Amino acid sequence: ARRPSSPDRRYRLGVMGGTFDPIHHGHLVAASEVAAVFGLDEVVFVPTGQPWQKADRRVSAAEDRYLMTVIATASNPRFTVSRVDIDRPGETYTVDTLRDLQTERGADVDLYFITGADALAQILTWRGVGRLFELAHFVGCTRPGVELHEPSIENLPADRITLMEVPALAISSTACRERVMIDEPIWYLVPDGIVQYIAKRGLYRAVSHDHRAGQ
Ligand code: ATP
Ligand code: MG
Repeated sequence: ARRPSSPDRRYRLGVMGGTFDPIHHGHLVAASEVAAVFGLDEVVFVPTGQPWQKADRRVSAAEDRYLMTVIATASNPRFTVSRVDIDRPGETYTVDTLRDLQTERGADVDLYFITGADALAQILTWRGVGRLFELAHFVGCTRPGVELHEPSIENLPADRITLMEVPALAISSTACRERVMIDEPIWYLVPDGIVQYIAKRGLYRAVSHDHRAGQ
């Protein structure tokens, strides 16, 4: 739901794209920090589409990743979740995400794309980067163990990109999945509801625990 904004202040929409397999407190802290610093009215979390493989592994079903994102963000009135990427066939490209959200929300909304420093460094090597900077302001969150090399941002429009340090949270989805696989706890790395959802669905276990009838 859009809050009324004064005529001289445009609505500021943060966009946090990710695989969210699973969503964890690093994502939530980064979104919260950027929202506070940039005075964002809302941050929309956008789980990526399905069919692609990420680093040689199968990504969990889009519906599981979507539901975990909904569960993790439900209690924050400024956090929402969008299905634009999981409902669009094919691989997810950030340019499509931003274009679809702009179309959906209208021209009077300013987009702030929130991304980790690692992901930002990759984005900057893409073709068509100029178009991306027309669509959104980019906020790169530095996280432990990931340094953005200054040369990679030298050629970029300084007014369209901001690097920001978020409270050091050495949490990654990869580490969460690995902990589940070897039966180590993920309490407090992810919201409680996500611990419970992962257990209920048997996600990330070496042996699939699928208790549905007929499986
Ligand atoms: P994986 O380990 O599977 O790569 P991830 O933890 O990096 O997962 P993604 O879903 O790939 O999670 O991340 C979505 C976005 O959030 C990316 O832009 C990523 O850089 C950023 N991000 C991930 N973890 C953190 C963190 N701890 N602090 C700040 N940003 C983060
Ligand atoms: Mg990642």
